[in-house]
Amino acid sequence: MRGLPVRFDGVSKRYGAVTALHPTYLSVATGEFFALLGPSGSGKSTLLGTIAGFVSPSSGRVLIGGTDVTSVPPHRRNIGMVFQNYALFPYLTVAKNIAFPLEMRRLPRRDVTARTKRILEIVRLQGFEDRLPGQLSGGQQQRVALARAAVYDPPLLLMDEPLGALDKNLREEMQEEIRQFHRSIGTTILYVTHDQQEAASMADRIAIMNHGRLEQLGPPRQLYEAPVSPFVATFLGEANLFHVSGHRCGRNDTREGLCISGPLSTGVVCLRPENILVAGEPLPYPNSFPGTVIDVTYNAGYVRYRVDVVQGPTVTARVPALRGEVPFPSGAAVHVGWSTDEMLILPAEPQGASQ
Ligand code: ADP
Ligand code: MG
Repeated sequence: MRGLPVRFDGVSKRYGAVTALHPTYLSVATGEFFALLGPSGSGKSTLLGTIAGFVSPSSGRVLIGGTDVTSVPPHRRNIGMVFQNYALFPYLTVAKNIAFPLEMRRLPRRDVTARTKRILEIVRLQGFEDRLPGQLSGGQQQRVALARAAVYDPPLLLMDEPLGALDKNLREEMQEEIRQFHRSIGTTILYVTHDQQEAASMADRIAIMNHGRLEQLGPPRQLYEAPVSPFVATFLGEANLFHVSGHRCGRNDTREGLCISGPLSTGVVCLRPENILVAGEPLPYPNSFPGTVIDVTYNAGYVRYRVDVVQGPTVTARVPALRGEVPFPSGAAVHVGWSTDEMLILPAEPQGASQ
């Protein structure tokens, strides 16, 4: 199976006074696993709907494989779709559910059988052909939905929060399965999620949506290491943000009450928790502040500290938990600090930013 590229050429959508999607320009490459990530209401499903054809754009064009499909009806676009609620036919067996799109397309029986068999192998559901959806687990039902969406070799698969109904462990297992599935069929996938971990672990590139706009686009690591805005910094991963408000303290005064050193005059300083150090004595950096540990938690090889900085905000630090090393307890007097190199300088979010 081969994938096709997708291009959004100034695509927007208004519903009366509500702008669900501002004009969006975006290219998704052939065979790419592309995630649309953003909070609820940010326009992800609207953007996906313009490719599927459920949403007709207020402006702009959608191109699939270089062909303008903006006015092509949904059933003519030859796109596979998977949603959160599976939408399987409850009274049809697994095999019949999967064969359904092929029968709609009036393929010869022999092809229907061969293709159904092949896709059942890809989603590892051999032996489940005769079961009804109600006799399957959530993860198995989602695999049937995947198989049904891909069985007719669409060059493009759209997935809108497909794992939203599954619990955490199963979701993580299915993330890996969908990646493998993508590798074995090679089609282009557009994947909508509001879960940053899911987007980061699955996608080649992520588009971060906020208030109907595409705020940043790039591979997961780039978005994490070089966010363009406080919104992206906090939406993808955890961030300590300090809003620089002037120079009253001789260095940079922040709205949060800290007086920090660094190459900046205005904007927002962002520090990832793993770049904040916690020690019993002052740290050898221009930015080192005394504080009190107010919370300590352990998770998967890391200790996460919340430190209330004297005359400053509470900061979050994440340090590797070394075997045998006892972490600072809650109430301990510590110092937090960071290397100037680790400071990300972001523009301040526009005040009262909205639609
Ligand atoms: P997401 O998928 O990111 O949660 P949506 O694309 O569904 O967001 O919605 C974006 C915005 O458009 C929201 O404010 C939503 O309320 C609005 N919206 C979506 N569909 C409609 C519709 N059919 N009529 C009116 N407003 C809509
Ligand atoms: Mg949605």
